Amino acid sequence: MTSLPSAPTAPVLELSGVVKEYPGTPPPRILHGIDLTVEAGELLAVVGPSGSGKSTLLALLGSLDRPTSGRLRFEGRDLAGLSDPDLAALRARRIGFVFQQFFLLPGLTTIENVATGLLYGGASISERRTRATEALRSVGLGHRLGHHPDQLSGGEKQRVAIARALIGRPALLLADEPTGALDSVSGTAVVDLLRTLHSDGTTVVVITHDRELAASFPRRIGIQDGRIAFDERLPRHAGAGR
Ligand code: ADP
Ligand code: MG
Repeated sequence: MTSLPSAPTAPVLELSGVVKEYPGTPPPRILHGIDLTVEAGELLAVVGPSGSGKSTLLALLGSLDRPTSGRLRFEGRDLAGLSDPDLAALRARRIGFVFQQFFLLPGLTTIENVATGLLYGGASISERRTRATEALRSVGLGHRLGHHPDQLSGGEKQRVAIARALIGRPALLLADEPTGALDSVSGTAVVDLLRTLHSDGTTVVVITHDRELAASFPRRIGIQDGRIAFDERLPRHAGAGR
């Protein structure tokens, strides 16, 4: 294979001096000036004690919330310039979310739950169903299309949630403690799935409490009291394991 110089691509995420305060008197400052760049195709873990600001940071990375000050660029675009509807459109097209709780709608089948991930884009019902079926097959749940969430194990529910996050083919997948509610076998299956997505080119950021899991990632960012305490990269990461 010839290696051609690749076209310069903007980082997926570029944060400089990002501060987050929540309303209050005085407003509690949760993030104290975060500088962080995430390049396309990275797989990174965010670790740190409970209450250190990890979920707050993830909400900013995913444009679910806006910084109090500082600059946040997504694929080279300064998000401060986007209206709320534009941000929502950007999220729907480019970003997938997975949380510790699966947030599946109990009255819907798996296929319907996954199809909700495309509601924003205006795809037809039949296209949503086709894509939902594909997404469920890609997470190994092609045999659970008509099941309801209460008929699924925790690991299966999380894979449905991942399928829902993937159905829009996001460039960036953000996962907040995705294995936190799972037994270790189901957790491993979910992590393997995140790794596969990463191998397929998706940029993946995972908040985790699992030290062993974090240690197996090519890059780890530690958050402590709303600051980046460390940012470690393995120079040549084997990428295997788990
Ligand atoms: P982590 O995910 O690392 O456990 P969080 O980002 O959830 O931490 O929370 C960091 C701090 O921000 C905590 O002290 C939490 O109580 C506070 N916090 C989180 N969300 C809000 C909110 N919506 N309003 C006020 N304070 C909040
Ligand atoms: Mg959290």
